[in-house]
Amino acid sequence: TEQYQEILGSLLEEVIRLSRIIDDLLLVAKSQIGQVNMEDHEIDLRAFIEEFADEAEMFTTQSNVSFTIERIEDAHIRGDALRLRRVLLNLVDNAVKYNVENGSVIVSLFTEEDDAIISIRDTGIGIPKAEQAKVFERFYRVDKEHSRSLGGTGLGLYIVRWIIETHGGAITLFSEEGKGSEFIIKLPLAETVVRESA
Ligand code: ATP
Ligand code: MG
Repeated sequence: TEQYQEILGSLLEEVIRLSRIIDDLLLVAKSQIGQVNMEDHEIDLRAFIEEFADEAEMFTTQSNVSFTIERIEDAHIRGDALRLRRVLLNLVDNAVKYNVENGSVIVSLFTEEDDAIISIRDTGIGIPKAEQAKVFERFYRVDKEHSRSLGGTGLGLYIVRWIIETHGGAITLFSEEGKGSEFIIKLPLAETVVRESA
């Protein structure tokens, strides 16, 4: 019945969120004792993001937030697909969680010189200027009361930045309060990595 489908939908959303938090906690714990194995494989980012998008639609349906891919180009990088999936999961989870009713999450992938650029943009509550650097710190959350009611630990963005930096990339945040946020990820293209190490 429709009622069951709705309940199962929100249970699934909660399960995905819980396993994300557990994985985040484990990853931080392991990284502190230098026990994280990063794989190094060639990744077809376009296929990777398209596959992720199918899954993301599952955990955005319950939230009245739309998820769209705006622009997508071919890009190959080297790295750990499982960890990069975590980056997308954490950023999209935020983009949905800190959004507004009927808001949207827009993802793009393109290349710029020797880098792949991934943009995750939302039409949510935004992050005040003074807080923008701090959100990447461990356990930091902007609006304590609001964040607490939404659930979470404040580890998501710390892990995102850590994974991106271990891949030789960088992440920047552009945000305006009340309008939305955009996280831009830069990752070196596979050819560049090969050329540098040659
Ligand atoms: P979790 O560990 O479950 O991810 P969290 O979402 O609170 O918890 P982070 O993902 O690290 O932790 O984000 C830190 C804080 O930055 C959030 O609590 C929120 O205040 C703010 N924030 C992050 N992403 C966004 C966004 N897209 N729009 C508005 N605020 C955001
Ligand atoms: Mg988060």
